[in-house]
Amino acid sequence: MGPHTYSDEWKSDADRHWRECGCGAKSEEAEHSGGTATCTEKAVCSVCGSEYGELSPHTYSDEWKSDADRHWCECACGAKSEESEHTFGEWTERDGNREKSCVCGYTVIDPEHTVIEPGNDEGNGLSPVAIAAIVIGGIAVLGGAGAAAYRFASKKKK
Ligand SMILES: [Zn+2]
Ligand SMILES: [Zn+2]
Ligand SMILES: [Zn+2]
Ligand SMILES: [Zn+2]
Repeated sequence: MGPHTYSDEWKSDADRHWRECGCGAKSEEAEHSGGTATCTEKAVCSVCGSEYGELSPHTYSDEWKSDADRHWCECACGAKSEESEHTFGEWTERDGNREKSCVCGYTVIDPEHTVIEPGNDEGNGLSPVAIAAIVIGGIAVLGGAGAAAYRFASKKKK
C-alpha cells in the first residue's frame, strides 16, 4: 500500500477535527480549540473553522429594567432574566406625594392623593389669612351683640 492521501479539507464532529484519507484513516486528529464563545454564538475552532462547545452564559445587567407591569435583568443580547411583575410595598409619603415602590425602583405615585404644599400642613391646616378672617369675624359678632344689647336697653327705658 502506498501512503495515505488525506483530504485538504478538515472533517469534524462536535468535539474534534481531522483530515481523512479515502480509506478512512485519520490524520492530525485533535480537539477543536481557539475562538471565544458568546451567549449567542459558539466558539469557532481556529484550526478547522467549525463551531464547537456551548454558548457562554448570558451576562445580565446589575440594574433592573422595567415597564409599567414588569421588571427584569437584561443581557446585551436582549435575553431577559428574573422577569416578574412588580411587587409594591406600602404607600409612603414623600415630597408631599403618596407613592409606593418596587424593589426594581419602579415607583407609582397615587394620583388621588392631594399634594400638600410644604409649610401649610401646620396650625391645623389654617393659613394665616384664614385665622385673620376668623378673628375679624369674631369682632364683628361681638360688635353686633353689643349693638343689640344697647338697642334692647334703649327700648326698656321707654
Ligand atoms: Zn488511506
Ligand atoms: Zn476544529
Ligand atoms: Zn446574552
Ligand atoms: Zn419591579
